[in-house]
Amino acid sequence: MLDRALPARDASDEEIARVHTPRYLELVKREIGGLDGPRYLSTGDVVVDASSLAVARRAAGGAIVAIEAAVETGEATFALVRPPGHHAESRRGMGFCLFNNAAIAARAYQARHGGRVLVVDFDYHHGNGTQDVAGEGLSYVSTHASPAYPGTGSELATLGRDAIVNVPLPASGIATEGFVAVWERLLRDVVAYVRPDAIVASAGFDYVAGDPVGDLGVDVGAATALARAINEAAFDACGGRVAYVLEGGYDIDALTASVEQIVRASDARASAERAADEAAIPRVVRERLARVDDLFA
Ligand SMILES: [Zn+2]
Repeated sequence: MLDRALPARDASDEEIARVHTPRYLELVKREIGGLDGPRYLSTGDVVVDASSLAVARRAAGGAIVAIEAAVETGEATFALVRPPGHHAESRRGMGFCLFNNAAIAARAYQARHGGRVLVVDFDYHHGNGTQDVAGEGLSYVSTHASPAYPGTGSELATLGRDAIVNVPLPASGIATEGFVAVWERLLRDVVAYVRPDAIVASAGFDYVAGDPVGDLGVDVGAATALARAINEAAFDACGGRVAYVLEGGYDIDALTASVEQIVRASDARASAERAADEAAIPRVVRERLARVDDLFA
């Protein structure tokens, strides 16, 4: 699969500043410049060292390369980057995240092509950072464990023409079939509402059972079904333009297997697989989905 890998590049200050304030970017430069050992970033729980600014710049640039490649080819791409990004808000890094890679990729797409981007976030955690910068053509939909870090994402909301949709899931776990069914339904409803011109998936795999940080109890094999549903939505809505950007996932074997499934599912358009059974969705989650429907009605 790596035969087809594209080189990443560094994101510029201008590209980063579409999402983060100049003041925050200066803070990151100041606190990381000249470090001779690890420390915590002053704005949140992100361990940094002297290399962190360069690595985060490359990660954000890699996400931009991925969305541009998806636009050129009409095929899904995967940005295999770290650090993750979805906890990084406009003016603070936190939760291992310095720059919001997915949002930076979405804004880069808009700067070049205009239009609307939907960020789809299936990481175990809520992407408070992406929600923070949503609006102006950037919509956001997330499932996440609740209660769990960072404690946000309990409220459904809309921003005029853009949407923010949060579906908290019981942190005690959800069956694989139910997790997939939630996403099949969410993608159908949210994509119909937002009508995105491109999709960026915040692809975090800490939902997999056994993950040392997350663990929703979902089977490692769920990534294939997730990718099928997301790719199908991208084909229907926006010419297949979807870039997956790595977020969390801390069990290396599960992470590897999940990324492989996403890439293989993108090799060919999904064949018609049986849709997941909505009866597998826990009742409390079905009620939240019904509220989402009301929101869009
Ligand atoms: Zn996570």
